[in-house]
Amino acid sequence: MSKNYEKETICIQSGWKPKNGEPRVLPIYQSTTFKYDSSEHMGKLFDLEESGYFYTRLQNPTNDCVAAKICELEGGVAAMLTSSGQAATYYAVFNICEAGDHIVLSSTVYGGTHNLITCTMKKMGIECTVVDPDADESEINKAFKENTKCVFAETIANPALVVLDIEKFARLAHSHNVPLIVDNTFATPINCNPFKWGADIITHSTTKYMDGHAISVGGCIVDSGNFDWSKYPEKFPGLCTPDESYHGITYTEKFGKAAYITKATSQLMRDLGSIQSPQNAFLLNVGLETLPLRMERHCYNAQKVAEYLEAHEKVAWVNYPGLKSNKYYELAQKYMPNGSCGVISFGLKGGRKAASDMMDKLELVAIVTHVADSRTSVLHPASHTHRQMNDEQLLEAGVAPDMIRLSVGIENVKDIIADLEQAIDKI
Ligand SMILES: *Cc1c(COP(=O)(O)O)cnc(C)c1O
Repeated sequence: MSKNYEKETICIQSGWKPKNGEPRVLPIYQSTTFKYDSSEHMGKLFDLEESGYFYTRLQNPTNDCVAAKICELEGGVAAMLTSSGQAATYYAVFNICEAGDHIVLSSTVYGGTHNLITCTMKKMGIECTVVDPDADESEINKAFKENTKCVFAETIANPALVVLDIEKFARLAHSHNVPLIVDNTFATPINCNPFKWGADIITHSTTKYMDGHAISVGGCIVDSGNFDWSKYPEKFPGLCTPDESYHGITYTEKFGKAAYITKATSQLMRDLGSIQSPQNAFLLNVGLETLPLRMERHCYNAQKVAEYLEAHEKVAWVNYPGLKSNKYYELAQKYMPNGSCGVISFGLKGGRKAASDMMDKLELVAIVTHVADSRTSVLHPASHTHRQMNDEQLLEAGVAPDMIRLSVGIENVKDIIADLEQAIDKI
């Protein structure tokens, strides 16, 4: 947007800008293809000589309006939607890494990200070194290699709720001439803007708070435009040398700050095709309109629930960055002073068994795989999302075997606490 509007205003007004007589609300461009009057015009689109739509596997106007809104919320220069958060992570990394390259990965990232990078991408010839995000700079520094191409971490780790020292990670990445990619799913751009602290690329699983209603899977990649790829052409040949599959275009020369997203769209989307459906982008846009209101309520409710649990005699431990007793309280105050997220983890004194017994007694709060939507839900990571991991990997990921992940919704907090109380009373 031309003016520097506040986030609440961006969430409502940005993206779709109807011209005279056009629909007020973002239309769903439910079309695989787009019509042109001349064959020459179409040819120019294929040559990336002109911007425009030709096939929805690469780009769609509905998607682009929603991506533009998220881009503005994050303070980036370019953004794209993907079919899922996993696809966003994969594209964000694969856009600058290939066989023979290396990634530095925070140990506490989401289980799906951990699998993608340490197992699936390994099969593609991309190696990674896993680091403890809380380790000293000198310790993490040892993980970097000649062929390292990026650092990947989460602003608030799912489900360990480790708050990333973004400045520390940005310093480390930049001292090795590589970008910091941050997954900002849990904090959302409402509570944290990692670009302000030195992150270069942001990914989102829009499936979570952004969509907010657990109705559609999606992802987003945003580029800050701050990382100067052209300074390191030998490190990033995909961006800095001619792309044979596009008649020798060099992305950094032709697209400047938009090089990274243009390459991901015109090359990765073209070849791998993980586009978000325009229907889902439309639903995501509706979710984004109320994101600031919902985040405020999620954080308010989570704070109350965390304080309630912390004071409960049957509760062994509570992890929530908003609690003064929390290890990450200071970091959270620095990077997300208005609140962190609605997710809490805790353990009961009865351990693993008490956790599953208690969960079975819940009436309002449901057991679901999902987190970060309007309905309060619980999950036992060790037996659900993280069950592929052994105990050692679980500990490394910050997942205790007795950990209950509670995603606090936007119901009245009195009802959420009452449900937890009756369930905990029964064990
Ligand atoms: C859920 C999640 C993902 C994966 O996103 P999907 O939309 O489920 O593919 C990635 N990162 C984080 C932090 C998540 O919570």
